[in-house]
Amino acid sequence: MASSMFGGIHPASRKENTRRKPLMLLEHPPAQVALPLAFHGGPSSLPLVKAGERVYAGQPIARPEGEDGAVLHASVSGRVEAIRELPHPWGGRAPAIVIANDGDNTPWPERPEGIKLSQASQEELMVRIEAAGIVDMGSDPLPAQVKILRARGRVDTLIVNAAECEPYITADLRLLQERGEPILKGTRALAKVLGVDRVVLAAESDMLTAVEALERRISRKRSRVELKTIRTRYPMGAEKQIVQSVTHREVPPGGRAEDVRCVVFNVSAAFAVGEALNKGLPLTHRAVTVTGGAVARPRNLWVPLGTPLKELVSSAGGFREEPGLILVGGPMTGVPQKSLEAPVLPNTNGLLCLAPWEQPREQAPTVCIRCGQCVSVCPMHLSPIFVVRALKENAAERLRSLHPQDCMDCGCCTYICPAHIPLADLVRQAAGQVRELEKGGDLHG
Ligand code: SF4
Ligand code: SF4
Repeated sequence: MASSMFGGIHPASRKENTRRKPLMLLEHPPAQVALPLAFHGGPSSLPLVKAGERVYAGQPIARPEGEDGAVLHASVSGRVEAIRELPHPWGGRAPAIVIANDGDNTPWPERPEGIKLSQASQEELMVRIEAAGIVDMGSDPLPAQVKILRARGRVDTLIVNAAECEPYITADLRLLQERGEPILKGTRALAKVLGVDRVVLAAESDMLTAVEALERRISRKRSRVELKTIRTRYPMGAEKQIVQSVTHREVPPGGRAEDVRCVVFNVSAAFAVGEALNKGLPLTHRAVTVTGGAVARPRNLWVPLGTPLKELVSSAGGFREEPGLILVGGPMTGVPQKSLEAPVLPNTNGLLCLAPWEQPREQAPTVCIRCGQCVSVCPMHLSPIFVVRALKENAAERLRSLHPQDCMDCGCCTYICPAHIPLADLVRQAAGQVRELEKGGDLHG
């Protein structure tokens, strides 16, 4: 079992409420879906449809703007109600294509046939992946073809990342357990299109049942996919940390996985590639864990993209008590939500509704006791306490030499600090100041 990641913490996993809950459909199909034109880490897409138009499930409804974009597909069939601004799960409001769902799920008549991996050329695979609008669904949510083009010819290792180290979230675990065949097919397709020597599917050590099932499948098919289990530790699911755990290569500060000849795709993206090959399906659905003490019946759901978050809560039996905090994602890096009208996006792996009693108690910061724990847990080799000291002393050059801009916002330092100092927030503030300084601005102006 591998684990060569530096730093990290062991927060309580809190996955027991959903770990054994299979992926289920929503109790009632959503009356409408809202598909934001900004749905990945690249530029927004441009609408191909107008209000009043009939659309089919899987039909392209927005095209990429520029080379780094992706095609957006209707996740249900129905009629375009409007293109209007709605709450976005990453914050604020953004334009979205709103489709009134007719409930028939009528497939797009021009949907392509499935293709055999052994008979498809690299270029045919590339065209299929791009046309399916697949975006990576991990910490680097870029369109798949953008990641492939960036990596092709520069990498020797493909890592398909099933490590789900955020507490509470079990969506990838269920996908791995229930949809092993398309995941392996998608993984082999990504390996073929990238032309890599080594293909690793990385899972956590506590995903035992899912890993055993995959092991059997891999040996039956005599596949060259290597299965690697990694001791669970947060934030090992992040791109740089999974590269380090699997290959012992360290991505340089400010660098990317390709700088050490690796490329990382999330397991949900590998599944989407498998479905695009098997059935000609574009990216229209994803697995989402709905959980937290405020939810009546926590579960894992298979959800059309664009479904409002309130529909997920309703399919999980509603609230048993008023939530104190609602997050899209897990408790460490999740984004707080003001509105349950915001829709599910390709990178929405969880909806966490924390009851007031399970939220960490706010405690006033006290004086640093120089225990050094913030330094030993930082996966980016930063020294949060020294960063904070330089920030408070307005010591610009010292701050710059401590590289706060390498912070990956994992929150480990704040989590571990016995003096309850909001280290991660302060390091973020310091990073902002250094960026300003490097742009030539006044550090404290
Ligand atoms: S300084 Fe940044 S990267 Fe390091 S532990 Fe804190 S939040 Fe994580
Ligand atoms: S963890 Fe907190 S108390 Fe310990 S050295 Fe860092 S800032 Fe100080």
